[in-house]
Amino acid sequence: MLSGAALMPQILPGLFIDGQWQSGHELLSAINPATEICLAQVASGDAEAVDTAVQAARSAFADWAQTSGAQRAKVLRAIALGVAERRERLMHLQSSNSGKPLSEAAIDVDDVIATFEYYAGLAEALDGQQDQALVLPSEDFAARIRREPCGVVGLIVPWNFPMVTTAWKLAPALAAGCCVVLKPSEVTPLPELELAAIIAESGLPKGVFNLVCGTGRAVGAALSGHPGLAKISFTGSNAVGVQVMQRAAETVKGVSLELGGKSALIVLADADLDLAVDLASGGGFFNAGQMCSATSRVLVAEPLFDEFLQRLTQKAQSVQVGNPLEDGTEMGPLASQAQYLRVMAHIDVGKKAGARLLCGGERPVERTVGYFLRPAVFTDVPLDSALWREEIFGPVLCVRRFTSEREAIALANDSDFGLVASVVGRDAEATERVANALQAGLVWINAPQVIFPQAAWGGYKQSSLGRELGPWGLAAFQELKHVIRSV
Ligand code: NAD
Repeated sequence: MLSGAALMPQILPGLFIDGQWQSGHELLSAINPATEICLAQVASGDAEAVDTAVQAARSAFADWAQTSGAQRAKVLRAIALGVAERRERLMHLQSSNSGKPLSEAAIDVDDVIATFEYYAGLAEALDGQQDQALVLPSEDFAARIRREPCGVVGLIVPWNFPMVTTAWKLAPALAAGCCVVLKPSEVTPLPELELAAIIAESGLPKGVFNLVCGTGRAVGAALSGHPGLAKISFTGSNAVGVQVMQRAAETVKGVSLELGGKSALIVLADADLDLAVDLASGGGFFNAGQMCSATSRVLVAEPLFDEFLQRLTQKAQSVQVGNPLEDGTEMGPLASQAQYLRVMAHIDVGKKAGARLLCGGERPVERTVGYFLRPAVFTDVPLDSALWREEIFGPVLCVRRFTSEREAIALANDSDFGLVASVVGRDAEATERVANALQAGLVWINAPQVIFPQAAWGGYKQSSLGRELGPWGLAAFQELKHVIRSV
């Protein structure tokens, strides 16, 4: 999609509709957050383009819905192969456009491959399983349950894991037999455009996959309110998620939401301290903390607290912040100027609320250009402060002590969110007990934030509506039909 001089500013078509690349009227700039240089401009769409894309997808749906799971699996595998073949290029585009180090971009690209391969397997397994007999408490009737694709779906994704959040929606939607209109984030269109180019060459019939780049206000809103869609699957902030839900409600569309988090990492009194510090650092600073799953509230058992805090502060100070394309960089810049300013404002408000900043939270002196920020560790954070309660979406950890397991659980659960949690401790019974008591959709015990396409993704409370990945991610794009016959 991007020419060989991929990083030269050029105008790229931002629409792929009915099998054709097209240009919209609005030019949006894709910025390199490490250099603040414009990498390319994307000729993006509007409500009219969304309408054209939805009509194309609706025309394609009748045939695509009738394909066998094996046929759909073939396309999904072709996409996985295309991504694998362009792995390096996708990594570079992602690092340049989002600021994440190449090592993290590699994890993302591999996750995309694994996701398309996994759903290829589930698509194949659908053949022969589309209808399942249902035993009724009456011999006069026979019944079956049939799973069908839910229709044409709109997919709206954020910038923090471009391609990954796309793959988590697109692969199951295509596997189920749905046609899609995808809207990537205006912040990170470049890796998404490259992925779209791979999809365009994968053998999909025209109209099955459509892409409309553009702003949330123009394209996202038009998609959420479009009456021709059966469902919207959205990943992003809570504020926008609520708007999407409200617009979708006007035509009673299905909605799946993956929203924010303010997750806890609990360090129990018998924890391995080195492991606990590593997990806290990874949970807070991976992707410069721009993770819905960031374990940004760290709860530490009283006997370990002082030592833990000292080691975590040292670790944060040693993080190599730099150009994401350079070897040895552990943390790149924040993904955009807007995000940088948002995080800085949170840090400021936190300090004014009385929280104690132990390190970081400022631009590295040697970085005069780019949205760089040194990882921050706070303690003495008031429980009612925004720093403790709101998603910051930057490299900012708040550390607090607890004196009993009960208190740790209560503190962790005292949040409007409930996406994930981590528990560190040697006593298996205690870690399992704490995991069971946490209101979170995924709990890691003594483990980094590993994610597999086979395991469910999503949270409790205001973090999610529905689940992605695994068979649950496929079911999210299926309708259930009961057929009952007199015998
Ligand atoms: P965002 O809500 O600003 O934007 C997300 C997407 O929605 C973008 O494509 C944007 O253009 C679009 N959008 C904006 N306004 C819209 C509107 N009025 N109608 C429809 N669409 C609109 O979020 P962001 O800043 O891109 O991403 C960060 C957020 O995403 C964080 O809150 C993070 O927690 C969340 N997130 C959640 C998960 C998860 O799995 N739970 C994963 C990744 C990110």
